[in-house]
Amino acid sequence: MSAMLLNKEKWPDFVGKLTNKKLWAPKLEGDAMRFAPVAEGEMPKLEYGNTRVPPKGALFPQTETMYRFQLGSSEMETPALEEEIVVLGVRPCDARAMTIVEKLFRWDIDDPYYLKRRELVTLVGLACGEPGLNCFCTSVGGDPASTEGLDLLMIDLGDNYLLETVTPKGEALVSEVAEFLTEAEAEAVQLKEKVVAEAAAKIKRSVDHEGIPEGLPGLWDDPLWKSVSASCLGCGTCTYLCPTCHCFDIQDETEGFEARRCRMWDSCMFEEYTLHTSGHNPRPTRRERTRNRINHKYNYYVDKFDVIACVGCGRCINLCPVNIDIVEILRQVKEAL
Ligand code: SF4
Ligand code: SF4
Repeated sequence: MSAMLLNKEKWPDFVGKLTNKKLWAPKLEGDAMRFAPVAEGEMPKLEYGNTRVPPKGALFPQTETMYRFQLGSSEMETPALEEEIVVLGVRPCDARAMTIVEKLFRWDIDDPYYLKRRELVTLVGLACGEPGLNCFCTSVGGDPASTEGLDLLMIDLGDNYLLETVTPKGEALVSEVAEFLTEAEAEAVQLKEKVVAEAAAKIKRSVDHEGIPEGLPGLWDDPLWKSVSASCLGCGTCTYLCPTCHCFDIQDETEGFEARRCRMWDSCMFEEYTLHTSGHNPRPTRRERTRNRINHKYNYYVDKFDVIACVGCGRCINLCPVNIDIVEILRQVKEAL
């Protein structure tokens, strides 16, 4: 691992050099920050809280063509995935989320689409200096400067960014822009420790998850599920915008004889998600769907992959239109154990 300094005056040169690849960074689209391609000459600004839409689409697009075919023909064409992408400004919680999602895409059979993208994508993180009001990463295994899942981490030190390489891909990226960097002295590394500790101290929310994964099965019929889901609208925002949610649907689309099979994000909070063709639905109400959402993140995933499938980004709390709060649900779960 190496540590280098990028003076902010060199930021336009740094970005300009990287636009020889496809570059994604947070951009304001409508009233929402989301990761999107940066056009040549555009200058991404990193002074923002976290994006509303997480960067999971860089590896797992919202809609993805799996293959194309012609009706009446048995031949299929799989789109070639070759384009290298650098994603700039990924928050540590969202990068950790990608490592959690990857466990699913490596389980059972390797998912060629996700894993190929993981090879092609370089994730450049940005440590959080001002965590959001509903962030709770530190209580679920993360921290505002975690490098898990990242290739390179940037830490804002005022006039400079400190760049810490994490993987060989990160090293390769740094060597491409070496002309704009200087060696980080011990002083910069000390300043980083201070900045990171101050950021962690600003996190006010937390989840005490001890005993929750083992205890959730015993609460299957507990009345709490009815009360915590009573106001849920079933809109799916909490799952669509969650960086660890990874459910998808597969559909065929046709135009004349041209057809494509695609997969797209889905949500277990939708009624149709578990609706059988027979009309039976094993999760018929929001009570069962909310119970599943919490169990999936804090029980099933822990059981299968030994990690909580929630990184404490706070999006589901910030964006739920009826203020359903996962931290509060988990507090009630803990109380009911
Ligand atoms: S965002 Fe809120 S209202 Fe919408 S499905 Fe999730 S919990 Fe229900
Ligand atoms: S469950 Fe909520 S807080 Fe946890 S990772 Fe998903 S959106 Fe973030």
